[in-house]
Amino acid sequence: MSYQHLLVAVDLSEECTPVLQRAQELARSTQARLSIVHIIEPMAMAFGGDVPMDLTLIQQQQFEQAEAALAKLAEQYPEVSKEQRHLIFGQPRQEIHGLATEQGCDLIVVGSHGRHGLALLLGSTANDVLHGAPCDVLAVRLNPPT
Ligand code: AMP
Repeated sequence: MSYQHLLVAVDLSEECTPVLQRAQELARSTQARLSIVHIIEPMAMAFGGDVPMDLTLIQQQQFEQAEAALAKLAEQYPEVSKEQRHLIFGQPRQEIHGLATEQGCDLIVVGSHGRHGLALLLGSTANDVLHGAPCDVLAVRLNPPT
């Protein structure tokens, strides 16, 4: 059984290139669709949801910057149409799972730093996405094992 629709989660850092390249190779070899998602974590969330100021303008700027970065990145992947680029406000795990279900994706691709010890306890997005995922998850290793 080959995959039909891959969803690549990107943090828009330089590190998302190897993740996207791996997903692209896989999508090409299985003739699957390729979609990309970036989640913008609302600033209020970082402060526990209780901020005594209006963050609307800052969030709008955050959205515009992410939109431009995502568009620039997607230029390198012609198989990803505009409709297959997603930018969502929220919590990464929840939004990535929700989008994968909504779009009928059968593989989520994320980058993984292969953290261990305390860093692992503090959590990683790859770990978070794996738990309760609605489909398979591929964690692309981002740094060589030490
Ligand atoms: P991290 O655990 O934050 O180092 O991120 C590992 C991987 O999780 C990244 O390579 C992305 O695949 C994914 N990821 C992290 N943050 C986000 C985000 N805001 N939106 C989408 N994917 C993300």
